[in-house]
Amino acid sequence: MQLGAMQDWKLRVTHLLDHAAREHGARELVSHWADGTESRTTWAGIRRDALKMTQALQRIGIQPGDRIATLAMNHHRHLVTWYGAVGAGGILHTINPRLFDDQLEYIVAHAEDRVLLFDKAFAPIVERMRPRWPTIERYVCFDSDEPAIHFEDWIGAENGHAAWADGDENDPCMLCYTSGTTGNPKGVLYTHRSTMLHAISSLQPAVFGMDARTVMMPIVPMFHAASWGLPWAGAAAGAKFVYSAVNDAAVLCDLFRREKVTASAGVPTVWLAFLQEIDRSGMGMPPSLKQVVCGGSAMPSSMIERFMGEGIRVAHAWGMTETSPIGTTGTETWDWDDLSFAEQIGIKAMQGRVPFGVEMRCVDLGDPGIVLPRDGKTAGALQVRGPWVVKRYFKGEKEAVDTGQWFDTGDVAVIHPNGTLQLTDRTKDVIKSGGEWISSVELENAAVGHPAVAEAAAIGVFHPKWDERPLLVVVRKAGVDVGSDDLRAFLATKVAKWWVPDDIVFVDEIPHTGTGKISKKDLRDQFRDFQWAA
Ligand code: ADP
Repeated sequence: MQLGAMQDWKLRVTHLLDHAAREHGARELVSHWADGTESRTTWAGIRRDALKMTQALQRIGIQPGDRIATLAMNHHRHLVTWYGAVGAGGILHTINPRLFDDQLEYIVAHAEDRVLLFDKAFAPIVERMRPRWPTIERYVCFDSDEPAIHFEDWIGAENGHAAWADGDENDPCMLCYTSGTTGNPKGVLYTHRSTMLHAISSLQPAVFGMDARTVMMPIVPMFHAASWGLPWAGAAAGAKFVYSAVNDAAVLCDLFRREKVTASAGVPTVWLAFLQEIDRSGMGMPPSLKQVVCGGSAMPSSMIERFMGEGIRVAHAWGMTETSPIGTTGTETWDWDDLSFAEQIGIKAMQGRVPFGVEMRCVDLGDPGIVLPRDGKTAGALQVRGPWVVKRYFKGEKEAVDTGQWFDTGDVAVIHPNGTLQLTDRTKDVIKSGGEWISSVELENAAVGHPAVAEAAAIGVFHPKWDERPLLVVVRKAGVDVGSDDLRAFLATKVAKWWVPDDIVFVDEIPHTGTGKISKKDLRDQFRDFQWAA
């Protein structure tokens, strides 16, 4: 057959920055640094510096496909590095500084990182890990000339007369590792094409809905799940970015007001701290704020109600590193305006619907050959596919998808008739009691609905009669008391009677993973020998 006759414009991510610099060149980007100082640049400035960085990388012999790592918070020099690294044809590897030393050693060796750019705040990690990172030839510090060359001095030595490396749209451009809740972290290798399609898709009103008027403050760190793709999509939109290298609620709230932030994105913990801070300070909700994206963990209903009650659109999103990470977003249904406020909150508390570009389905937990109906009742293993979903893990031997190209997310969910996804658990965390499934997530959500509960985690513990029974581990809010019997009585009004945990243990702290999620693995280890009362 004859080929089509349209131009061969490769979907390479450097086009995004070229566009931003050309069409939105004067649009500002603000960085608030760890020492409290602030600096401002523009999209034109980001491109100028990224070209210098590409040149600096080429000067030290970086070849297409080489890995350039970062260990850094959110700021414009980190953004310059995203584009400078991919511009040189390299693969950007954003390292999560919250990983444990053994994981940090493992992923740098696995990725074979050649260059590391880091924040001074993470210099102690660098000092400690240096002997265990033999592949790294060059260290560059973003905000200090100690213990490595200062970023501005390094790229400042270049004139920027460089060109982006050319290549195929299926070349890799970015490497992100999952936090490794089981076994070693696994690398997901995004391509220029997958990243570009994800970025374009993000601009839909149903996703991030960004345009040139948007003032975006990403609170999701640039080292977590590609910062939800915002650095790429924001360039396509020509949005203003407001970055903070410190995650302090008071600093963030002040920036929201001063820079007139209209949209922001972060995990529930961040939004909790944000709401507490605007109440504590008496400042109230920043008047410019129009949209809040929340994902990574379930967004509590009380939080959704608070934002929506103040006229702010809430997008409750689900995704994972393996999905670049957009899977679903909390888009409104066609009958949205006919729903009551309470109904709307109920829908937003679920994980939302897929945008164009992602397909999802649930299959039977015991037999993956059975595709389950979208009846809002039947829970199964959630699978997804699409152009920005992982096919194979980095250096992995076998495909991470089945022959039909479906990727098994490890999440358990029901899908409602209107296409709304509702997560009920992770495959490894469901509790099987007397042959029936109990959702640990629903138990936890019910428990945190109690005014004295700060955090709760449910795990299955061996039971001689029922095989497994739920044990609830709870951290109380400071200064508030609640006992096991009271809390069990409260839960009995929220979930099925046979779901009510047989015992509740109160602790000072629940273990978390490197990405701040509850580590069920550690919790199960901790309570391995737990004995039920007779
Ligand atoms: P990691 O797997 O490294 O912890 P990810 O960000 O890739 O980090 O985690 C993806 C997982 O986070 C999903 O599989 C899901 O279990 C959970 N998750 C993401 N978004 C939500 C959400 N809105 N509600 C509940 N769980 C979520």
